[in-house]
Amino acid sequence: MKLQIEGAVVTHVGRVRTKNEDNYSLFGKYRKNMKKKTRKDEKTIISRRAAAAVFDGMGGEEAGEIASLIATCMFSACALEKLKEEVSQQVQTVNDAICSESKRRGNIRMGTTMTALYLDQNTAVCCNVGDSRCYFLRGGVLHQLSVDHSEAMHMIEMGIMSEEEARKSNGWHILTQCLGIFREEFLIEPHFSQPIVLQPDDMFLLCSDGLTDMVMDKEIGSILQISENAKKRAEALVEAALENGGKDNVTALVIHVKKPYAPWRKLLGRRGE
Ligand code: CA
Repeated sequence: MKLQIEGAVVTHVGRVRTKNEDNYSLFGKYRKNMKKKTRKDEKTIISRRAAAAVFDGMGGEEAGEIASLIATCMFSACALEKLKEEVSQQVQTVNDAICSESKRRGNIRMGTTMTALYLDQNTAVCCNVGDSRCYFLRGGVLHQLSVDHSEAMHMIEMGIMSEEEARKSNGWHILTQCLGIFREEFLIEPHFSQPIVLQPDDMFLLCSDGLTDMVMDKEIGSILQISENAKKRAEALVEAALENGGKDNVTALVIHVKKPYAPWRKLLGRRGE
């Protein structure tokens, strides 16, 4: 008996921007055509291992889309026992690929965030670089698993600013970590969450800041609980961001754990279902 998970994603250009620099990987599906500003995908899988991610690209001209596309194409699932080692290595490889593309284009600055969820048998771990978030919902309580790598969050942690003050400050969007950094500038240190042992009906949300800047955590939590399936949840979240102004590209990727991996079910036969 393998892990059964339902996933759905919606990415939207928003109401202000002219191009969508976000991208995602939903069990191997991603946005290949950069000209299409809006895209939806859904996929349910039964597997021992799976991974999904959201990338928020940044840079002038087409640079943001290219950076997030490079990261998306290089993204893959990973065994949890080697996760930290392999993902830290993968992140460096993606970073180098973005930097060499940037050099090839005459040193235009380009970068992307990454927020990823790795599921392996009955466990999930989130890994992030930048300020795209990963949330976890169980028993009606929403937890943020990712850490915002931004100057403002650093100020909040130091007790210098409240979250409300930080949201209004210039440092809210200044990232202290992203992919597309020349090695001499600073070291990339991805954040890994504690492993979560999966239970049926656990839910995860991966999203870009176009969602979290427009929709507060409380509303995010209720939308995730009201809607009936992953697709409707992702659509409702993006709709809420658009209703609240849609100032940036917005991507919401929802993962619903239908059945965690439980090897004893096979041993128990149908009675274990
Ligand atoms: Ca953004």
